[in-house]
Amino acid sequence: MTDAGGYRGVYVNGSWQAGAGEPVRVLDPSNERVIADIASASPDQVRAALAAARAAAPGWSRTSAGERGRLLRRMADVIRMHADLLAETLVREVGKRAAEAAGEVAFAESFLRYNAEWDLRLEGEILPGDVPGEQVHLLRVPVGVVAAICPWNFPLAVLCRKLGPALVTGNTVVVKPSEVTPIGTVVLFRLFDELLDVPPGVLNLVVGGPVVGRQIVESGEADLVTFTGHRDTGKAVMAAGSRHLTRVSLELGGKAPAIVWRDADLDRAVPAILEARHTNCGQVCTSAERVLVHRDVLDEFTERYVQAVRGMRLGDPAGGADLGPLVSQAQLNKVEAAVGLAVQEGAKVLTGGRRPAGDAFASGYWYEPTVFGGVSPQMSVMREETFGPVTPILGFDDLADALSIANNSRYGLSAYVFSRDYSTVMRTVDELEFGEIYVNRTLGESVHAHHAGWKESGMGGEDGKWGVLRYTQLKTAYHRFA
Ligand code: NAD
Repeated sequence: MTDAGGYRGVYVNGSWQAGAGEPVRVLDPSNERVIADIASASPDQVRAALAAARAAAPGWSRTSAGERGRLLRRMADVIRMHADLLAETLVREVGKRAAEAAGEVAFAESFLRYNAEWDLRLEGEILPGDVPGEQVHLLRVPVGVVAAICPWNFPLAVLCRKLGPALVTGNTVVVKPSEVTPIGTVVLFRLFDELLDVPPGVLNLVVGGPVVGRQIVESGEADLVTFTGHRDTGKAVMAAGSRHLTRVSLELGGKAPAIVWRDADLDRAVPAILEARHTNCGQVCTSAERVLVHRDVLDEFTERYVQAVRGMRLGDPAGGADLGPLVSQAQLNKVEAAVGLAVQEGAKVLTGGRRPAGDAFASGYWYEPTVFGGVSPQMSVMREETFGPVTPILGFDDLADALSIANNSRYGLSAYVFSRDYSTVMRTVDELEFGEIYVNRTLGESVHAHHAGWKESGMGGEDGKWGVLRYTQLKTAYHRFA
């Protein structure tokens, strides 16, 4: 089929093809206009992409590490040169505010620059043999073919978070973007194709939905599936990968608690949590999904937070609004259902709780930022990932109380702590069962740290040294020389 919008969804072995599978319709979430119809990859095209990556793997793994680092730096340069175009694409297909879209593009670039620096830094080990005249060498080698399955909320940042370490360590890649937001990835691949000399087969792209993702995982043709997405999809990926014992790295959802102590600086905590809850309209895995406030400051915090939420302006994400739309009808339905269930369970709407009125919001996936009081830890809104602009606020009495609420969760990705007291911060951080904790600040991880969910928020982890090593495997060679 011809792709409305002129986008082709399959890039295999260095050539573009029109997809031969089901069409994927991409909508602008702020007005529901069709941006593009892209035909997804057919089963044969998915097989061809995996085969191309397999065929290119030995050659790519034998290039010098310096050459691979240079390619990543050039890819980063391409992103920087075309940052405006890429950011505009994210505004249109994700509904991301312009400033946030620009931030995501810069984040994507920084993943490539950071990982490029690993080109000459990967280390093996030499151990003494346990018999005379022998050395044992542990070599870090690529896993082979990496399948990168990406979500819609950070299409380019998550992509480059995976591409950087995969390519620098000598793997070839098949990318599957989310069917909800494939355009940014297609545009970026076009730029790489036009401006760089990536060897054919090293980078491949297949647009498509769950069917394409499932085929990739079930095929056994990927040596590592690095997946970012919903917890339940992650479980399906792990189950499907078990068929061929395919390695999986899973970056899944969260239910981050923000714990506000009585001595917290509320001038800092309120805006930090506001941002941590409403960035990308609440659709961030590290979003502050539930707020726990010491009872001594519960009323003051709630009043200030609700006032701040009431002051947020919804509107055109390309303009200067504070909040854009949710990404899709499905996401809007989920948020509406979560709010409805919270009300049914007895939570009290302090502000919001509905779709906004007015012509500007007649089409598109808009939802008013919503705050709940009167919640209890058992309520669904305190347990399940809402992934929207909804903040439940709950009081706590002491450390044991805060920790039991915060840790009593199947998720374990991120948490936030606000206090001016060193001992309180340290005791709280020490006992929180989360992989990533932000103290007295809002969300936003660093490329050189480590981003990994505990419990059902994932397995694996990305970024920094440990993230890079995940794209390698160890080869042990015993050298007998005497
Ligand atoms: P999703 O699980 O619906 O989809 C993610 C990707 O998986 C898409 O490309 C989709 O097409 C594909 N897919 C769907 N079913 C599949 C299957 N059976 N086999 C293989 N692939 C399949 O997630 P989403 O709605 O796109 O993203 C939102 C979720 O991602 C949220 O839960 C969020 O918390 C999480 N997330 C986590 C991180 C992190 O780093 N931990 C980052 C961003 C988003």
